[in-house]
Amino acid sequence: MPIENAPFFTMIKSILVLGAGSAGLLAAISIKVKIPGMQVRVVRSPDLGVIGVGEGTTPLFPDHLFHYLGINPGAFYAQASPTWKLGIRFKQWGPRESFNYSFASQCDIKYSDVARENGYYFDDDFRDANLPAALMARDKAFHRNPVGGGPDLKMSHGFHIENRQFVAVLEVVAREAGVDFTDALVSGAERGPQGIAAVLLADGRRLEADFFIDASGFRSELLGRALEEPFINYDRALFCDRAVVGGWARTTEPILPYTAAETMDAGWAWQIEHEHLVNRGYVFSSGSISDDEATAEFQRKNPKVPASLRVVKFRSGRYRRLWVDNVLAVGNAGGFVEPLEATALMVVCGQCRDFIESLRQCEWSPSPSLIRLYNEMEGERWDEIRDFLSIHYKFNTRLDTPFWKHCREDTDIGNADRIVEFYRENGPAGFIRYLIPSRHKSFDLEGYLVMLVGNRVPYERRHEPTPEERQIWEKRRAMFAAQAEKGMDVGEALACIRHPNWKWHAGRSPAVTGH
Ligand SMILES: Cc1cc2nc3c(=O)[nH]c(=O)nc-3n(C[C@H](O)[C@H](O)[C@H](O)COP(=O)(O)OP(=O)(O)OC[C@H]3O[C@@H](n4cnc5c(N)ncnc54)[C@H](O)[C@@H]3O)c2cc1C
Repeated sequence: MPIENAPFFTMIKSILVLGAGSAGLLAAISIKVKIPGMQVRVVRSPDLGVIGVGEGTTPLFPDHLFHYLGINPGAFYAQASPTWKLGIRFKQWGPRESFNYSFASQCDIKYSDVARENGYYFDDDFRDANLPAALMARDKAFHRNPVGGGPDLKMSHGFHIENRQFVAVLEVVAREAGVDFTDALVSGAERGPQGIAAVLLADGRRLEADFFIDASGFRSELLGRALEEPFINYDRALFCDRAVVGGWARTTEPILPYTAAETMDAGWAWQIEHEHLVNRGYVFSSGSISDDEATAEFQRKNPKVPASLRVVKFRSGRYRRLWVDNVLAVGNAGGFVEPLEATALMVVCGQCRDFIESLRQCEWSPSPSLIRLYNEMEGERWDEIRDFLSIHYKFNTRLDTPFWKHCREDTDIGNADRIVEFYRENGPAGFIRYLIPSRHKSFDLEGYLVMLVGNRVPYERRHEPTPEERQIWEKRRAMFAAQAEKGMDVGEALACIRHPNWKWHAGRSPAVTGH
């Protein structure tokens, strides 16, 4: 129904988005593309700029861009230069040298020719459990499409994408979609009967709107500062609160098709693969080591990072409610967890979809019960991520530093405790799925099983594979390995999609870019 004809008086006709980082721009574009009659204005301070860190993503992200929003993939690839991510490689994490968490199921499958689910067979050997994992093991990104020999981009993947370049592309897309921009510093907010009546600009102007999206990053100008919504700290589950961020220009290093997460003395280090940049960072706990000690360890283990490095401070947690009165917070303004599973943009996309669906449900005039439901759903989404990340820490037995002992002894794993209890008694059985708590299932059973089996968390009722089953697994592994050997690496796949003969399947909406 067009907004003008909606039957309620207090309907939302205009939305002001505070912030033009990836969260604010994704929100503005999502609203404008899905509700074209809505007036959408982005206000941002070029002086404050964007966070400029990251980013790795999950598969929901390309799905959101190309299918939900209909952005033209050819134009997007040309302008934003993403590379592909098939999953995460956990290095020196727990007792194994490494194991891969691919976006396609490895553990949570049961083949008909063996007695139990896959996870029961991976105690010794966690290699080549499926094609994506076999590709990751060989630093290959895609198998070759039987027709034409190009990369098969249908395989489940996320992106590695540079934050500033991504934000620049999103701004172009937003303007083409009809979003207005105002460059100004917001210095305060004027309260009104609906919550916020207007934002006040440092140059004396005042901007009104029916609804406000707070995407102001860690400053959380509207939800946190103006409305003073309480913050729920995740510090009983996640002890890290800082990151040393650095990287180096790529020379001869291959572009890897995964994010690496590697155990460090007081946290872990990421490696994200951009085409021309190897992006590294060390997430650590300031309660365990100082900035200088973290920087020194990071530099010792990564001789190529520059001498001067940036330290980013953060607190893990979320605001109690993300939608209060006529303000909704997205991105770092609403909540944050460290990028151990690279979930931030996934949450932004999920939150935008739920918000747009909520507006449709209430025909642009939200009721208190709808806002309550939204807050329950989004709070659950964050808490589920917290619980999933907590098991990464609790069961990593690699190092005996004070930080890791503290993690094993004191990490509160929240609602994941029932999953772990069931696993300890029964092993990696598919039945555990019924214990996954929320509506979102952001990681599904597969994520939990990869971390538990990957870390060799002990369980009773083991299944001893028969000689026949061992043979079946050997053959299966050999088959995936052989397919992966013939795959192509990221460099080759980039060359293919840049070839003039490459054909993109267009997105659904022609509106968002002229290319
Ligand atoms: C160390 C680290 C690593 C990360 N890695 C990943 C990753 O791998 N994957 C991932 O998905 N995410 C990652 N993130 C999260 C990432 O920061 C967010 O996904 C994403 O960039 C969203 O940022 P944002 O838009 O919320 O905030 P920002 O980029 O900070 O944008 C805030 C915007 O608000 C504006 N603003 C703020 N206050 C005002 C004001 N008063 N007046 C006017 N304008 C204002 C700013 O100018 C800016 O435009 C990481 C974060 C950190 C800290």
